[in-house]
Amino acid sequence: MLKVAKFGGSSVASAEQFRKVKDIVLSDPSRKLVVVSAAGKRDSKDHKITDLLYLCHAHITYGVPCDDIFDRIRERFIEIRDQLGLTFPIEKELDAIRAKISKDMSVDELVSRGEYLTSKLMAEYLGYYFLDASNCIYMDFDGKFQPRKIAEALSGALKEHSGIVIPGFYGSLPSGKVKVMSRGGSDITGSLVAAACDADMYENWTDVSGILMADPRIVENPSPISEITFAELRELAYMGASVLHEDSVAPVKEVGIPLNIRNTNDPSHPGTMIVDKASESDDVNDRFITGISGKRNFIILTVSRRLNNSNETLRDVLEILDRHKVQAEHISMGIDQFALVLSQASIGDSLYEIIGDIKTKCSPDDVEIQDNIALVAAVGRKMIFRPGISGKVFNALGKEGINIRTIAQGSDELAIIVGVDNSQFENTIRILYHSFAG
Ligand code: ASP
Repeated sequence: MLKVAKFGGSSVASAEQFRKVKDIVLSDPSRKLVVVSAAGKRDSKDHKITDLLYLCHAHITYGVPCDDIFDRIRERFIEIRDQLGLTFPIEKELDAIRAKISKDMSVDELVSRGEYLTSKLMAEYLGYYFLDASNCIYMDFDGKFQPRKIAEALSGALKEHSGIVIPGFYGSLPSGKVKVMSRGGSDITGSLVAAACDADMYENWTDVSGILMADPRIVENPSPISEITFAELRELAYMGASVLHEDSVAPVKEVGIPLNIRNTNDPSHPGTMIVDKASESDDVNDRFITGISGKRNFIILTVSRRLNNSNETLRDVLEILDRHKVQAEHISMGIDQFALVLSQASIGDSLYEIIGDIKTKCSPDDVEIQDNIALVAAVGRKMIFRPGISGKVFNALGKEGINIRTIAQGSDELAIIVGVDNSQFENTIRILYHSFAG
């Protein structure tokens, strides 16, 4: 059994958090590969080490001294080391970084030092081997990962060491230069490492007990999701839920490794298990809906053209949208008209130009716009082949006087999406949550 355990910034923000991590890692001998973020915020007023490092770089770029900020970084690391009674000579490393900052250190190398130093301390504390991400997370010239090279490096290291700590967030280019990923990139490192080692599980340890059924800023105390499929997660994320980024899910999803989101501050909570295929026995109170998410600010563009081949008109309209780089979210067809749901953000200032192009090219009878539409999705793998679910959705919303402006359901029946007025966005989420999950 082999597990990759990735710990996010808040899980390694202080000596106290390091202790929790050690208890978690050592309580399961299969947690042989540990991926670590840079120390994050200890409380809401604190700063992430990564942010401070970016700030140092910005100061240097504008010729402003960064010593005060660098000293804060220095103090954080020395404090963790001393409180844990570790011996790693971190001052030497910090001095070398400080000396290099003003000379020839790239922004990528500088900000990667947060993960590097946090991992150095974690490796000593766990008694694990420190494997620099520069020596195992390989990228090609345009930053694309090299899975085969990554797998070779990791399997070599695993043969020699029973426990390994790898810094997240960065890797190396063929030139040997450090390259960082997008923010939050340690999640990607963990996923890559799990896929490369064919791990049995990728654990992502954070500060929440898994994914919640709805946004807690909208629904009070929503239940956590115990099990969700990768496909459902993608729907929820696409529709606005802030869950793991697609890039960090892809490596494990491709090879079907389960991903378990866990809480470092509540390690006995099983968290959320993200799987390829859900188990049969996961029926929590027979819920049909796994989660609810949504986004505001869409428009519905309705094009009417009687006695016309609507395929041709639709194709022309889609071509016009393509030219304006606008993606159609949903399409519904009627006899003499069709309606497209488009995001206001992707349209930007081009709406009147688009309408003008449609009028010129398609000579429609009418083009109508309804704006300020919010889309809300009820996502659930168990909806398939169950009659009555959409009826329940409409009933619940109708009873509360919410007018549904558009509806969509894919043939995979993974989500029912309703379009409502922007002003009813939060209400719709709450009503659906309480009808299906409360
Ligand atoms: N430390 C990096 C960030 O703050 C990467 C990570 O934490 O995953 O974005």
